[in-house]
Amino acid sequence: MANFDAMSAAQIAAGVANGDFTATEVAKASLDAIDKREGDVQAFLQVSPELALDAAAATDAAREKGEKLGPLAGVPVAFKDNMHLVGTRTTCASRMLENYESVFTATCVKRMLDAGATPMGKTNMDEFAFGSSTETSYFHRTNNPWDTERVPGGSSGGSAAAVAAGEVTISLGSDTGGSIRQPASLCGVVGLKPTYGAVSRYGVVAFGSSLDQVGPFGRSVADVALAMNALTGPGRDPLDSTSQDCPVDFLEHLEDPIEGKTVGVVPELMDIAGLSDEERAALDRARATFEDQGAKIVEVSLPNIKSAIAAYYVIAPCEAFSNLARFDGVRYGYQEPGCSTLAEQTSKSRAKGFGEEAKRRQMLGAYLLSSGVYDKYYYPAQQVRTLITQDYVHAFEQCDVILMPATPRTAFKFGEISDPTQMYASDMFTISNNICGNGGISVPLGLGKDSGLPVSAQLQGPAFSDRKLLQFARALERGAGATGVVAPDFAGKGGELA
Ligand code: GLN
Repeated sequence: MANFDAMSAAQIAAGVANGDFTATEVAKASLDAIDKREGDVQAFLQVSPELALDAAAATDAAREKGEKLGPLAGVPVAFKDNMHLVGTRTTCASRMLENYESVFTATCVKRMLDAGATPMGKTNMDEFAFGSSTETSYFHRTNNPWDTERVPGGSSGGSAAAVAAGEVTISLGSDTGGSIRQPASLCGVVGLKPTYGAVSRYGVVAFGSSLDQVGPFGRSVADVALAMNALTGPGRDPLDSTSQDCPVDFLEHLEDPIEGKTVGVVPELMDIAGLSDEERAALDRARATFEDQGAKIVEVSLPNIKSAIAAYYVIAPCEAFSNLARFDGVRYGYQEPGCSTLAEQTSKSRAKGFGEEAKRRQMLGAYLLSSGVYDKYYYPAQQVRTLITQDYVHAFEQCDVILMPATPRTAFKFGEISDPTQMYASDMFTISNNICGNGGISVPLGLGKDSGLPVSAQLQGPAFSDRKLLQFARALERGAGATGVVAPDFAGKGGELA
C-alpha cells in the first residue's frame, strides 16, 4: 500500500469497499508516511495511531459483516488542534491548554468519522489561530513541504502541510480571516472556507465567533467536495445556533461546464502594492482558463474592500478577547502554582499561559471595547462590515463568482516577517470574505517561475453558493490546476511549472 498518497479520497473509499485493500492497510500506510516525513515537516502536534487503527479495524469489521460503508471509508484525515476529539488533547498550540484532554468530540470531526474517515491525529497551528505562518505555535514550527526553510502559512499550517506532504488525504482547518485559504495557497493544496454557518462549529475552540468557519483541505477539488458532503447535511446542528441547514450534494454538479457563466475580476485589487508578479501571472492564467471554457469575464468593483483588514483587526480582537476570557487559570488550562490570591493566580496564569501574539490580540480587544473607545473603533468597524457586505451583494448581481488572489505572494522564510502589521497584511485578499460570511476557495495553479513555490488563485461566491464555487474550482483545476500532487521532496514528483 505504498502509493496511498497518489490516490484520491474516493479511490481509497472505493478500494476499501471493494476489498482491494483494507482500511487498516491504508491507516498503516498513512502512519508510515507520517513516520518518514514528519521529521522534516512537523505538521502534527499529536499523531493518534491507536485511534487510527481502532477506527480502521471498525471499518474493516463493518465490511466483513456486509454493512454499507461511508463515503470516506478508510480515508486518513487529520484535524486542526482547535477541534475536540475524545482520546486526544486539544491544545490550540498554546501552553495554556498544553495538557487539556478533549472531553467531547466536535460535530465536524464526528461527521468525518461517521462517514468512515480514519483519524490520524491533530495538527499544528498558530496559537489559538492568531497568525498567518504557524510560527506562533507554543510547541514547534511546521515546515512548508515544498521548501522546509519556509512557512506553511497559517493559522491552519499543520493541516495544509500534512496534506501537501502526503501524510494524510484530507484535513480540516478553521478560517477566521484566511486560515484555510492562505496556507492552502502556500502549500499548493485546495482549501475551502465554506459559507459562515454551513459547517457546525460545535466543539471548535472559538476565536472570532462572527467570523469562524470550519472547512476542508485536499489535494483535489473532488476530495474537498467529498469532505463537504460529510461535513454538511440537512438539518441544523442543534449544538451550534449559527449552523444552517445545508442539504446539498457537492459532487452532483462538480463536472458541469461553466460555459456562459460569468466570472468577476476586481481591477482595484490588482493594483494593490505587494501582489507579486508570480501571483499576478497565476491570476492571468486562471482568467484565460475560464475564458477558454466559455465563461465571460466581467469587471466588478468592491470599493470598500481595502478597509477590510482595518475592520477585521478591530472586530476579531474584540471577539477573541471575549472568547479567551474563559482561560482564567481556574476552571481549566494552565494554573500558576503557589499563588495566594485569586487575582494573582489569574494574572500569573494568563501571563505564562499565553504567548506574545495571543496577549497582543487580547490587550487590543480589551482596549477597543473599553468605555469611550468602542464607539470610535468598534462601531465604525461594524459599519465598514455592512458596506463591504453590500459591495459583494452588488458584485454578485453581475457575476457568478469572483476571481482574485488568495495571497499576495508565495511562502516566506521563517522570521522574515517580524512586524505584526505586516503579518496581518498576508490576509489582505481573504479577510473580506469572512467579514461578509461568504464562501471562498484557494486552488493551486502550479509553481511560480522564479520561486519554484506553489502559486494559486482564489474564488469567492455568494453566501451558500459553495457548490457552485466547487464547480468553478473544478473548471480551473481541469484547465490550469496542479492538484493531486505531493510535495516533491517526499515523493519525487513536482507540480506543473507555471
Ligand atoms: N491571519 C488572520 C489572523 O491572524 C486570520 C487567522 C485565522 O483565520 N484564524 O487573525
